[in-house]
Amino acid sequence: MERIYLDHAATTPVHPKAAEAMMPYFTSVYGNPSSTHHFGRESKAALQQSRKVLAEAVGASADEIVLTAGGTEADNLAIMGYARRHQHLGRHLITAVTEHHGVLHACGALEKEGFRVTYLDVDSEGRISLEELKQALTDETILVSLMTANNETGVLQPVQEAAALLKEHQTVFHTDAVQALGKRRLNVTELGIDMLAASAHKFNGPNGTGFLYVRKGIQLDPLLYGGSQERKRRAGTESTALAAGMAEALRLALENMEQKQLEQERFRHLLLTHLEQGGVEFVVNGHRHERLSNVLNISFPGANVEQLLMNLDLEGIAVSSGSACTAGSIEASHVLTAMHGDSERGRSAVRFSFGLGTTEAHMEQTAAALLRVLQRMKVLH
Ligand code: PLP
Repeated sequence: MERIYLDHAATTPVHPKAAEAMMPYFTSVYGNPSSTHHFGRESKAALQQSRKVLAEAVGASADEIVLTAGGTEADNLAIMGYARRHQHLGRHLITAVTEHHGVLHACGALEKEGFRVTYLDVDSEGRISLEELKQALTDETILVSLMTANNETGVLQPVQEAAALLKEHQTVFHTDAVQALGKRRLNVTELGIDMLAASAHKFNGPNGTGFLYVRKGIQLDPLLYGGSQERKRRAGTESTALAAGMAEALRLALENMEQKQLEQERFRHLLLTHLEQGGVEFVVNGHRHERLSNVLNISFPGANVEQLLMNLDLEGIAVSSGSACTAGSIEASHVLTAMHGDSERGRSAVRFSFGLGTTEAHMEQTAAALLRVLQRMKVLH
């Protein structure tokens, strides 16, 4: 049985060229980039080259890139590092209820330290209101954090408009671009972004590495204390290999990106058409146009999602649900609950996400398997 992986929003396979790009740094160019001898200098030069590629991909300069151990750390560093450093300017932050836990839980930790956080609601399409953002701003607000694209629905937030709205205000603007980077063209200057978090394993780079873009001049309190790597913003020996893999993966992701978007729109259309033709009752979650091409979140009313996922896995299809199973009962994710309340729609949602290796044939096989499984589950008659 050929297994079909449609969970690229969870993590992605490493691109073979990215894997290849890492190899020399495990075995021959292995010096510590902080060492002053030949081995160290060689590593440092490679690290700088990777940093340059990452910076250029978002329209930044190399010294504005802080290498981290992934998206969570980048989000935490931006939010906690900035808030702690600038609390003399105010102790209020604004974010949205549908953010990733890497943002929400960082905000929660700051609340315990005495900061106040406003969590903006979203509409049924998953988008915040700019008017509500404007109203939430106070003289105490120091940071606004809004994700570029949501990990469950692919919905895009109006980050450029939000950033423009903050222009005259003291607050800085952070975006969690973990899902969006590599799928959309992002230029921090054009978008007005002060800090941007990214993670390599979402764009066919290695796991456990990512970066935070920090606009020149912005000071952060570090999360980690130790050596003075990353201009004292992130202590610990950098991984030259992971940085090289991440840089190569991002370079490849941005190559023919528009073509890949079109292909993914076709995958999406194909899957939806097959489901319609098969008489399946379903509803697509999230904004119709303001979204990523590679994430498709569908609710199947009447279906027990846990059973559905298990049966699809038996059919060789790997997807994920937007729900969590707590003490035997299915609870909708915080994202779908924010969009649709505690509802059947939220509890019966499945996320299909496409990427490297996905084909049209996969869509046909997935639709056929879905029809079989829904019939077996007596959801489709
Ligand atoms: N932010 C978003 C939107 C994500 O989807 C993820 C990944 O699950 C993260 C942050 C965390 O990234 P990482 O897994 O690299 O810590």
